[in-house]
Amino acid sequence: MYDYLIVGAGLYGSVFAQQAKAAGKKVLVIDKRDHIAGNIYTEKQMGIHVHKYGAHIFHTNNKKVWDYVQQFADFNHYTNMPVANYKGEIYSLPFNMFTFNQMWGVVTPEEAFRIIEEQRKEIKGTPNNLEEQAISLVGRDIYEKLIKGYTEKQWGRECKELPVFIIRRLPIRLTYDNNYFNARYQGIPIGGYTKMVEKMLDGIEVRLREDYLQNKAGWNAQADKVLYTGPIDAYFDYCLGYLEYRSVRFENETFDILNYQGNAVVNYTDCQTPWTRIIEHKWFEFGKDDNGSEIPQTIISREYSYEWKPGDEPCYPVNDEKNGLLYKEYKALADWEEKTFFGGRLAEYKYYDMDQIVAASMNVWNELQLRYSYNG
Ligand code: UDP
Repeated sequence: MYDYLIVGAGLYGSVFAQQAKAAGKKVLVIDKRDHIAGNIYTEKQMGIHVHKYGAHIFHTNNKKVWDYVQQFADFNHYTNMPVANYKGEIYSLPFNMFTFNQMWGVVTPEEAFRIIEEQRKEIKGTPNNLEEQAISLVGRDIYEKLIKGYTEKQWGRECKELPVFIIRRLPIRLTYDNNYFNARYQGIPIGGYTKMVEKMLDGIEVRLREDYLQNKAGWNAQADKVLYTGPIDAYFDYCLGYLEYRSVRFENETFDILNYQGNAVVNYTDCQTPWTRIIEHKWFEFGKDDNGSEIPQTIISREYSYEWKPGDEPCYPVNDEKNGLLYKEYKALADWEEKTFFGGRLAEYKYYDMDQIVAASMNVWNELQLRYSYNG
């Protein structure tokens, strides 16, 4: 009998498993895929750590989280500075003085501020959707060239139908600063994310290619408590209907050249280009392999976003009102489960970043300890 069965060897499940194991618990981790690390999985090809499910850049302001992950990997000093390609015009991201200079030729923050102030006047009152929020933050020019096409491709919905919080993820600055994140700590684990998760799961029994939902009762009988990190609607056999997700698909290509696009991430922000962005993986590690040697080839991934359907890997929850209400109904069912608890991007239907996942998993573990020690 295990103390904990953990369904899903992604970041949430692995952090939880690591803590439980460290506290002397008997833990079993299962995953239906043939690898650990969920969507942060990286695979080494030609000396390059390929982010198989899309770019992952660890960033956080939370020192506890940063200290925690440092135990399992050394992080390099990669700083995310994606660029936007709008029909061949290149713009800096996130929206900052470089972007405003490229867009309007302005040089001082005051000039940029004046243009934004003028353009944002078209939105009266509180913004009700992503389009209004974007225009009220940076004005129509930037909205049209750098936000509208990208967002509508990524979410498969009009900006008018999307919630405002999505665009608030992006910083907007009147300084010349291309760092995509407002985070004190940032980097990529040297040796790849898979190696980091492997280290978290060190000494823990992990079984791959096991589909928990095919035999819930059988698995549950093997453990005292169960942490489920898969999609919450799938857990309940979609009995209340399907939650919507976006999935991503990658088209990978290898070139015998040193440098394809000159940056790790280039976003294609027009609506005609079918992919949302191209990742050139080697630049997450400055073009060097694990021994510090320059890699002569390069691997790129074109990222396409599409609507999830059963059988696909869900990646992004679509946190609009309709899905929010359905999630609440599933959550109410989940609260009735006695030995199973739910956590992570899919089980909580929440657009978590990696650091938030680590923090949430650490918090849940701590809360459980308090609860059980209180109940004796
Ligand atoms: N976004 C945009 N243009 C860009 C990059 C991002 O409009 O070039 C918007 C878009 O709405 C996107 C959101 O910002 O959904 C969040 O982007 P982020 O880079 O945080 O998304 P992730 O990396 O999680 O896919």
